[in-house]
Amino acid sequence: MNSTYPQRISFSDAQTIIDDVAAANRLGVERVPLARSLNRVLAEDIISTVTLPNFDNAAMDGYALRAEDLNEYAKTGFEIIGEQFAGPPKGFVIEKGQCVRITTGAMLPEGTDTIAIKEDSSEEQGSVKFHAPVKFGSNIRRAGEDVAIDDNIAKAGQVLKAARISLLAAVGLHDVACATRPTVAIFTSGDELQAPGQPLQAGQIYDSNRVLLQNLLIAEGLEPVAWPVLPDDPARIETALRDAAFSFDVVITCGGVSAGEKDYLPAFLEQHGQIHFWKVRMKPGMPLLFGQVGKTLFLGLPGNPVSVLATFLSLGRRLLDGLQGRAEPRSLLRAQLSQSITKQHARLEFMRGDLHIDNQGMISVTPNAATGSHRLRAAAESNALIMLPEGEGNIAAGAMMRVLPYGRWLS
Ligand code: AMP
Ligand code: MG
Repeated sequence: MNSTYPQRISFSDAQTIIDDVAAANRLGVERVPLARSLNRVLAEDIISTVTLPNFDNAAMDGYALRAEDLNEYAKTGFEIIGEQFAGPPKGFVIEKGQCVRITTGAMLPEGTDTIAIKEDSSEEQGSVKFHAPVKFGSNIRRAGEDVAIDDNIAKAGQVLKAARISLLAAVGLHDVACATRPTVAIFTSGDELQAPGQPLQAGQIYDSNRVLLQNLLIAEGLEPVAWPVLPDDPARIETALRDAAFSFDVVITCGGVSAGEKDYLPAFLEQHGQIHFWKVRMKPGMPLLFGQVGKTLFLGLPGNPVSVLATFLSLGRRLLDGLQGRAEPRSLLRAQLSQSITKQHARLEFMRGDLHIDNQGMISVTPNAATGSHRLRAAAESNALIMLPEGEGNIAAGAMMRVLPYGRWLS
């Protein structure tokens, strides 16, 4: 195999290559109804064509009146000429000493400039008195104080969340342009793999990565298609992957990317497409392979379950985000290390740990003692990957570490 592609690269170089390839392969755009747009990446800037509020309206339940009449009528009583609820205006025109009973959100009747609140009033036989001082212009929501015409209220690349979606609804939008979701196929491979639920033969293990990848992708709002397990047979692998290369935006495989005899994936990519990089100086996940066949991007994750988790969370999601033009980075927290760590290798390490937020809101992380990327239980019982920077040495307890949350902290 020739080696014209980057190999054994740093984690940050892998990030850069992924970003560049994703940018060159940006997915298309589709209109999505707001009601289905949660977590989608917005593909357009939204410029408001209306003001919010659209009209001056009452901020409280009370009485709409003219402030200039207060001196004279607050103690003796304003005449109530009717009621204005939120909804169509009834066309009241207020004259000296008059007021209109009004509810929150109702349009201000013509001539009024102040709302005196209900709590500080007493009503009697069609008139109302006020016990507390009422300031000119109080309790009114002014047209345009929240959003003005031509305000940019959402930007391309933002991830749509409930509050922003509701703002888009408030300016009257029914649907917005979003990046299309990538279609993703998942392949697990290995002669030793058996589907959960089937009896195990000697030397077999259950395929745990398939459901791991399915759920990691479902958590991203995607609908992955999982292929039947591939045997370590180059002809079968080639047929299946070539099929997938015509039908999906992204193909994620796991297993078969190391340099073992049965690791056919790098050769497949070299022969039918191209490799963008192979092997990243990270632990776990070193054999990570990234390439392309036609327009379909291939991410070859190593087979060990913890490698799948670390490479997907750190780089796989980045690829999916980049393809959708997501501009907001994933949250990376900083947490205080509760125990010292001795690091005996130079690679960037994603170490499993238990992230804890105490009742003061302080975040700490306790490393999990288990090492070995096969130890899935340690990953299931952890909820964060602690990023130990490149280089050997001791990291003292109390150090502030970057952590990648997952499990119950991932939302
Ligand atoms: P490989 O990258 O194919 O050499 O696999 C590395 C290790 O991960 C081996 O111990 C495999 O048995 C294991 N492995 C590979 N695929 C899976 C899978 N889908 N589920 C669980 N373990 C796997
Ligand atoms: Mg294998």
